[in-house]
Amino acid sequence: MSDEPTRHERGPSTRGIHAGRRPGAGDPAVVTPIHQSATFVPDERDLALLEAGRIHEAHFYTRCGNPTVSAVERKLAELEGAVPAPEGGARLFASGNAAMHATLMACALPAGHVVAAEKLYGGTRGVLDDCLVPAGGAVTYADAEDEGALDEAWRPETRVLLCESIANPTLEVADLPRLARRAHERGALLVVDATYASPALQRPLELGADVVVHSATKYIGGHSDQVAGVATARGEVLERLTAWRNNAGGCLDPHGAFLVDRGLKTLALRMEAHGRGALALASALAEHPRVRRVRYPGLEDFEHHLRARELLAGFGGMVFLELEADDAAVTRCLAHLELGLAAPSLGGVETLVSQPALSSHAAMSADERAALGIPPGSLRISVGLEDPADLIADFRRALDQLG
Ligand code: PLP
Repeated sequence: MSDEPTRHERGPSTRGIHAGRRPGAGDPAVVTPIHQSATFVPDERDLALLEAGRIHEAHFYTRCGNPTVSAVERKLAELEGAVPAPEGGARLFASGNAAMHATLMACALPAGHVVAAEKLYGGTRGVLDDCLVPAGGAVTYADAEDEGALDEAWRPETRVLLCESIANPTLEVADLPRLARRAHERGALLVVDATYASPALQRPLELGADVVVHSATKYIGGHSDQVAGVATARGEVLERLTAWRNNAGGCLDPHGAFLVDRGLKTLALRMEAHGRGALALASALAEHPRVRRVRYPGLEDFEHHLRARELLAGFGGMVFLELEADDAAVTRCLAHLELGLAAPSLGGVETLVSQPALSSHAAMSADERAALGIPPGSLRISVGLEDPADLIADFRRALDQLG
């Protein structure tokens, strides 16, 4: 037998560059062309695909499928390890929230119940509370680390267990194999938002997840210049997801797909550099007198450090600080940053900082935030690709202003 890796065993950089499309006769462009057309004249191949219910692969109508979009979807499916498993595939959406919305509606309706990890991006809570519940679904939030709490939350009609593989913003690492076993033993699906990890650090489908969702706005796109999302699944779940996208219309446009493709080519390289910068910054800031606590999965004192080693191919680019200050003082100190930018979002080349109390978790009371591990003075840093020594100097200078 040959020692050469098969297509689906190639490394994440190789897949990120080559998977999904091979230039050749009739399609010679090295870079996937942008098919900026809403509609297509179908040929025989397309008509056969339509007949087989594979509208997303046919040249037909861009809400349902487009050659640029489907080339990038094939690449994402290979990156996630969804192929060569039968009937695996990725679907691109107009945003991460659109991908999560389609996933939850497709998996939980009609009348299904979702058990959701309580440490969850605020926008995902919005999809659950404001979209799923009014549509006849139900949700219970529970501590995903606590088997008893999950048991208590579980109902006969529970169809989905939902978690983030690295939690926003406090960075706990989910025990995906355990959660997958629990969901499957009880006839439910495990849905994982793996935005913080990206496909370069983790492939949740291979750890037992049934659907993996990303905000491609973040690491996948990687340049803070687009909003996009992706959901990857197999078989009947993928079919339901595809139908939701076609009906609700939350598709990504061809130019957006082109930007996702460009991001994927450097994803593995960027994730390595984000991880290097984050470890350097987290280690340096742990020594600062105004820092009460640094949370970063790459630090040995992080509660899930060993699990992160086991389940992730790197520790990621997100750092969480608890500062010896109130939120207003932290806001004032952030004005002294010369490199870090106080803006929402994450995963871009520039370092972004945000205060959960004023952004993602503003809708909660201070007590509710504290119960989730977000005390006053908390700061989330998305470590960019600046030179780590410059970032360390920038943050030290700003934190010194806390007095
Ligand atoms: N999931 C996580 C973990 C996020 O942080 C975000 C956005 O911040 C989303 C999903 C939603 O993504 P989008 O803004 O692309 O809709």
